Amino acid sequence: MEIRVRYAPSPTGLQHIGGVRTALFNYLFARSLGGKMILRLEDTDRTRCDERYVENLYSTFSWLGIHWDEGPDTGGDSGPYVQSERFELYRKYALELVDKKRAYFCFCPQERLERLRAEREAAHSAETGYDRKCRDIDGKEAAARAAGGEAHTIRLKIPLGESTRFHDVLLGDIEWKNDDVNPDPVLLKSDGFPTYHLANVVDDHLMRISHVMRAQEWLSSAPLHAIMYAAFGWEAPLFCHLPMVMGDDGKKLSKRHGAAGIDEFRGEGYLPQALINYVALLGASYVEGKDLYTLEELAANFSLEKLNKAPAVFDYKKLQWYNEQYIRMQSDGELAALCLPGAVQAGLFGAAGQAPSGAEEAAFTAAMPLIRERISFPAQAAEKLRYLFAEPALPAAAEFIPKKSDLKTALKLLRIARELVPALAAARTGEEAETFIREEAARRGVKPGDLMTPLRAAVTGSRVSPPLAGSIRILGAEKTLGRIDRAAARLSSGEP
Ligand code: GLU
Repeated sequence: MEIRVRYAPSPTGLQHIGGVRTALFNYLFARSLGGKMILRLEDTDRTRCDERYVENLYSTFSWLGIHWDEGPDTGGDSGPYVQSERFELYRKYALELVDKKRAYFCFCPQERLERLRAEREAAHSAETGYDRKCRDIDGKEAAARAAGGEAHTIRLKIPLGESTRFHDVLLGDIEWKNDDVNPDPVLLKSDGFPTYHLANVVDDHLMRISHVMRAQEWLSSAPLHAIMYAAFGWEAPLFCHLPMVMGDDGKKLSKRHGAAGIDEFRGEGYLPQALINYVALLGASYVEGKDLYTLEELAANFSLEKLNKAPAVFDYKKLQWYNEQYIRMQSDGELAALCLPGAVQAGLFGAAGQAPSGAEEAAFTAAMPLIRERISFPAQAAEKLRYLFAEPALPAAAEFIPKKSDLKTALKLLRIARELVPALAAARTGEEAETFIREEAARRGVKPGDLMTPLRAAVTGSRVSPPLAGSIRILGAEKTLGRIDRAAARLSSGEP
């Protein structure tokens, strides 16, 4: 069987975790079996669709690095891939069902349907949906009325008293009593626009979709779709309804739980690799004991057998963990490129928005090993590294004093540290500088931690900072000595 899957969003909102998860699973499934992934825009609800959502869709997936084989932007031989460009087709197929007596013209005006709903509500009736009033109008008469210009919709004639069975790859065999299916839903509206059901089924058939993988919220449409495939006499694709993505309260993931839109995660500094890796695990497993996967590895290990039936709970902490892992995997240059825009905005190189000089940019890149393990998001780099680019305010004298020590000792240690600076600044790597400081401390009979406390306060303005030896290497001897002298003078003056 040729594997062809599709992501079929309605451009009525921004791309969110749930949509991306559906797209990603389709993508991985297609890649895992050498199949094709298709993008189809289901824009039949013209009032809710908006071009900016289409743009958001393209920008989201190009940022994530997920590409389809066929779609409105890439083309393909099953196009057009935008439903609003296919309206003629839907009408033709709706009429085909009328011809086959599997659908019928309905002339009930909107007011009647509203009245029906209101009456039932007032009577607390359990009945919902259409009362099938036009179902039994003689076919010839109905056709003549429709041809004569009388406003009409086309409704599916659900075979009553029967059951519809279909198989879901994940959920197994499913059987629905037809009497419980939405009574004779509209396929073609009075303005000639198709409904989701008609357009979706016709397109999945014409685009030769082999597997329909979509969120479980569409499961209730599946019996109806199965009835339509049978009515057309078409082979239905294999259905696979994916477990829902929930917040930690068991409700569908939404804004209430935190960010859900991809733009928000992107704005917060999540890397696409982290999102892909985490989202791919929402309802699926791959290799036991392995957490980190590239897109290629995910595709190589994806299989429908490893999907979960139970809903997946979205864990923001786990996603952040993924981001930290991917930040750690960036080279100095890559990480600097990710962190630089935020640093420029935060005014790390002068006024907010000021770009770095060549030397500053080089220092920023060289400083990446100092923070790589200490940030969860690129935007945190600026504050962590500010002391490298501007002289920090001197902290209070107490901050210079090692534990169980005194000011006099702190000053003595600062003098020792001062002697080490030229060699520290000349070290080839942060590790080399670190080793040197430890060896010198041992040689002089002081604890390395004690030696570093006043030095750290003088150089970074704080008792806690990224690695000190590495920082001095980047700062250079001259600036470091200047900071030490400034601190020593203040401490000697007896100011608190
Ligand atoms: N247009 C539907 C949506 O917005 C597609 C559902 C399906 O995949 O059949 O999710």
